[in-house]
Amino acid sequence: MTNAMAAANSPIDSGPLQRHMTRSVTIRHGTRNVVVGGSTPVVVQSMTNTDTADAIATAIQVKDLARAGSELVRITVNTPEAAASVAAIREQLDKMGIDVPLVGDFHYNGHKLLNDFPVCAQALSKYRINPGNVGQGAKRDTQFAQMIEAACRYDKPVRIGVNWGSLDQALLARIMDENAQRVQPWDAQQVMYEALVTSAIENARRAEELGLAGDKIILSCKVSGVQDLIAVYRELAQRCEYPLHLGLTEAGMGSKGIVASTAALSVLLQEGIGDTIRISLTPEPGGDRTKEVVVAQEILQTMGLRKFAPMVIACPGCGRTTSTVFQELADRIQTYLRDQMPVWKKQYPGVENMNVAVMGCIVNGPGESKHANIGISLPGTGESPAAPVFVDGEKKITLRGERIAEEFQAIVLEYVKTRYGKEAVER
Ligand code: SF4
Repeated sequence: MTNAMAAANSPIDSGPLQRHMTRSVTIRHGTRNVVVGGSTPVVVQSMTNTDTADAIATAIQVKDLARAGSELVRITVNTPEAAASVAAIREQLDKMGIDVPLVGDFHYNGHKLLNDFPVCAQALSKYRINPGNVGQGAKRDTQFAQMIEAACRYDKPVRIGVNWGSLDQALLARIMDENAQRVQPWDAQQVMYEALVTSAIENARRAEELGLAGDKIILSCKVSGVQDLIAVYRELAQRCEYPLHLGLTEAGMGSKGIVASTAALSVLLQEGIGDTIRISLTPEPGGDRTKEVVVAQEILQTMGLRKFAPMVIACPGCGRTTSTVFQELADRIQTYLRDQMPVWKKQYPGVENMNVAVMGCIVNGPGESKHANIGISLPGTGESPAAPVFVDGEKKITLRGERIAEEFQAIVLEYVKTRYGKEAVER
């Protein structure tokens, strides 16, 4: 038997992915519990870019991020005015029925703000502490301890969030000194990796020594290079059981930011590393902040790790289709489905599993449409002006004329009601 024949006798393994085992940390607001780590699905989070001192603008953006699907939302708490505003933001959100837990992002003065604004410390559901920005010299340990004491007092989890743009310089100097003693010193990049990982783990251990339970700690080590992020998180996952927050820091704008984040996070998630993700996209001027939530969800959904919204499968188009009809239809259906999800996910449980195909011509159109729950194969250039619609693999109707988009959308809605509505569940 040839090697090729032997290989064909064993099925190709499609997974499943093995999650790297971590402790689970629960982040609470009211009756809402968001669990990060353990065997729970990877959590999507985001961060506002409003001035936190502007309670109304921040509450509105948090609401938008939460409605887009962000399961945790972080806000910067950088000034006394911002800290004074946190409780009002929380109150506004609660009035709007938005129970997403809020995470406070602290740098430099977090020890003071948490002490001076107990209402803020209480209203937040988690604190992010950057060990590189806690203080210098002798003050560093004291101020770090004050933040951990606040977390213990208010029973809040923390993220020890290391960032290579603000790495603890004293720790880096120590690691460099240790490196110099090696028979074969590591190169600068390896020293940097070691400093990042050491900073996260040593500060987590220190937090535990100060009385914070191990299941109240999440770690992150953010860098801006894809290969650097993969290397650092592989090492971090090897060395600890704290849940890991993944994100490529300063990922950039537009397609560059999306591609870089996806490349880095996909490799790690495929290896079972990562319990919560945030996509740090630079918004386009006037752009929508919720894009980072959509990208995070799409990474997880396209990898088969979670389901958030029905998927639209659309062909790229080619010379066989010279009009923009199918691009417009694909865009219309995708936008329609996503816009409906805040209501549909309550009304039509399971609808997020639906696939809709929008295809440009007869070459792959009918085949792909039959694989989807609902598919439409639009006419390519020179084809008869008819668009067969397939439902659960069977041709249901052929649409013609100017109102194909409206009629197809109505078929999708009817399918959702019939397949995922209350009566369908009870049948
Ligand atoms: S389905 Fe048709 S239009 Fe779409 S990419 Fe394939 S050949 Fe081109």
